[in-house]
Amino acid sequence: MLATGYGFAAAMMIVIGVRLHAPRNKAPWYSFAAALTLWATGDLCYAWQPSSPGWPLTQAADVPYLLSYPAFIFGAQSLLRTRSASRGRAETLDAAIVSTGFTLLTWAFVIRPIMDDSTLTTAQRLLELAYPAGDVLLFIMTVRLLTASEERTTSHRLLIGAILAQSFYDLWYTATSNLDVNIDAVVDVAGIPTYTLWAAAALHRSMNVPAAPAQTRVEGHSPRRLVLLAVATLLAPAVLAAQGMSGGGVVVDWPAITISSVVLFLLVVWRMSGLVTQLQTQAAQLRTMAHNDALTGIPNRRAWDLELSNRMASARRSGDSLTVALLDIDHFKRYNDAFGHPAGDQLLRDGAAAWRAHLGAGGLLARYGGEEFAVLFTGCHLDEAIAVLDRMRRATPSGQSFSAGLAVWGGQESPEALISRADEALYGAKEAGRNRVEVSTTLPAAA
Ligand code: GH3
Ligand code: MG
Ligand code: MG
Repeated sequence: MLATGYGFAAAMMIVIGVRLHAPRNKAPWYSFAAALTLWATGDLCYAWQPSSPGWPLTQAADVPYLLSYPAFIFGAQSLLRTRSASRGRAETLDAAIVSTGFTLLTWAFVIRPIMDDSTLTTAQRLLELAYPAGDVLLFIMTVRLLTASEERTTSHRLLIGAILAQSFYDLWYTATSNLDVNIDAVVDVAGIPTYTLWAAAALHRSMNVPAAPAQTRVEGHSPRRLVLLAVATLLAPAVLAAQGMSGGGVVVDWPAITISSVVLFLLVVWRMSGLVTQLQTQAAQLRTMAHNDALTGIPNRRAWDLELSNRMASARRSGDSLTVALLDIDHFKRYNDAFGHPAGDQLLRDGAAAWRAHLGAGGLLARYGGEEFAVLFTGCHLDEAIAVLDRMRRATPSGQSFSAGLAVWGGQESPEALISRADEALYGAKEAGRNRVEVSTTLPAAA
């Protein structure tokens, strides 16, 4: 009886909350207020049940009770529509997994017992089934709200809590009304916190703050979500174990358990495939980021070091010749000072593109650091390499030039020794007056 008063009070609090905070979308709140009023009216009809069993209000209670479901569901649906929540594949799959587990639980412990109850007439049975069916629908909508990735306000959290509590409260009500327990106690114990949640959600000052999409979309990585999914998937074996143990080995709901297990496994595999695809895409992005220079887009020093040792290893097997060149833009500091660093950056970008266009498919151009670049020729004669470098030098944009030092791999020397000889030759080119290509005359070191 106490909870009935609370129900009406909670509905009134929602109306006061809407008036006070004036949220942009009032529809869900008003439908929740209507739903609570209907539910409390049902409680009232039920509570006025006198000792005579034929009292019509006991039956009449079903009318407001059942009418409250469309109002609750309409409210949850319009809340879902207005939240800017992203409803990607991952969120939808998570909601489907949780809903499947919950539906099995409701089937095994509430719906199927009602269907098997031979004391009920068909009309009574349908009436009794309408309650858990409504609860399952309401729960599914709440799970969709719960799994959407968005920034939640306190009011939104309280509201989700209220709808969840409401569907559990109704289910408990339905489940216990079949047993011979004092329904008033159930109503009071479960109803009061539920109604308090509704009122708190409406009265909290964040109730008019629109939802914002989550800042960082962490798909399926939050521990809370994993716990939720784990519990949902474990419900099928839990129901199996519960029935196996209590029914002396007879599992009444084996068809429902089988179907829901198959559905759950397939949903989990589908969800997993999404995660694997996401991981692969991210790995490819990371690889690109780790191996490419951010400014020019060409391979960076890390990629160069890796590629040089790889090509040395294969040249050692095939006996192919290997030539490296280090090139350095002439008077680049002067260029930066005259035109500014952004123009210097642009020269690096344009230069890399222009040089690469002159390099054959077998050649590799990498940014070695600053305004220094490295070139690798495989199976290319020295004269040919010099000719290519000269063409690249003349193709340097904005009337600029570079100096380059070349070294032919001796077949045994380390990458460091080879680069060091090319660097020496580069110094020679600078000293000789820049804008030229010099070849290392130092003999390659033996291994
Ligand atoms: P030299 O002909 O002897 O090579 O003279 P230089 O001016 O090219 O050589 P120096 O080493 O004195 O200067 C290199 C300059 O390159 C200094 C540095 O500010 C500039 N630099 C290095 N990396 C970048 C970059 O990413 N963007 C720009 N805009 N400038 C860079
Ligand atoms: Mg330099
Ligand atoms: Mg320079």
